[in-house]
Amino acid sequence: AGHPEAVRTRGLYKRFGQQVAVGGVDLVVPLGSFAGLVGPNGAGKTTTLSMITGLLMPDGGSVEVGGIDVWRDPVAVKAHVGVLPEGLRLFERLSGRELLSYNGQIRGIPKEEVTRRAEELLRVMDLADSADKLVVDYSTGMRKKIALAAALLHNPKVLFLDEPFEGVDPVSANTLVEVLRRYTASGSTVVFSSHVMELVERLCDWVSVMNHGHIVAQGTLAEVRGDHTLNDALLHLV
Ligand code: ATP
Repeated sequence: AGHPEAVRTRGLYKRFGQQVAVGGVDLVVPLGSFAGLVGPNGAGKTTTLSMITGLLMPDGGSVEVGGIDVWRDPVAVKAHVGVLPEGLRLFERLSGRELLSYNGQIRGIPKEEVTRRAEELLRVMDLADSADKLVVDYSTGMRKKIALAAALLHNPKVLFLDEPFEGVDPVSANTLVEVLRRYTASGSTVVFSSHVMELVERLCDWVSVMNHGHIVAQGTLAEVRGDHTLNDALLHLV
């Protein structure tokens, strides 16, 4: 309470046929958080993130990002949000550098600015030497890094990442973490999903725990950690 919020959903709801995937979720993320959305496979994390980022239409409820209603005002929210979807749909026949330039173009960023930002991001992601290689030849870690660079190109205030560390080699994972830490240190907000509780405990200052389409715990890492009944439940769950 009293936090300015980067994200707030109210009663977010989605069903696929008879199956309720997300059953009325009130997700809250304070501004500037490094937030983790954690829960086992099938908990509803991807479905929730997809509705928050405007990729999947909710059956009910609402989503605000930076105080803007995502489903009422999708155009206004677009400039503030960066997304790293689970199955990165990247143009594999482009080089890393071309991919960034293409993303800058569709975002309507001026060409010189795209070039400047792209070179900076390629360096930060340790991709400068691979910038002219085709994305199809990138490793999983490199793909996640180029996707993160593309998502950061327009300097969004809130970044959503679905399982960003899955299948990523340790060195690339460290780079991703460093970039995300610097990004939140500058006041921006990160929300990422994971089924690995240890990872979320190591990285996050804010945690939302999902199971069976519901938030079962939510708060600062200390609050969620201090919840012993929850910890017992998590041992069986995540
Ligand atoms: P994972 O890490 O495995 O992706 P998750 O927590 O992200 O898990 P979701 O992918 O959101 O969970 O899935 C929640 C539930 O909704 C699951 O039972 C899943 O089978 C179902 N579901 C998700 N997408 C669809 C879809 N397009 N059609 C039918 N059922 C779906």
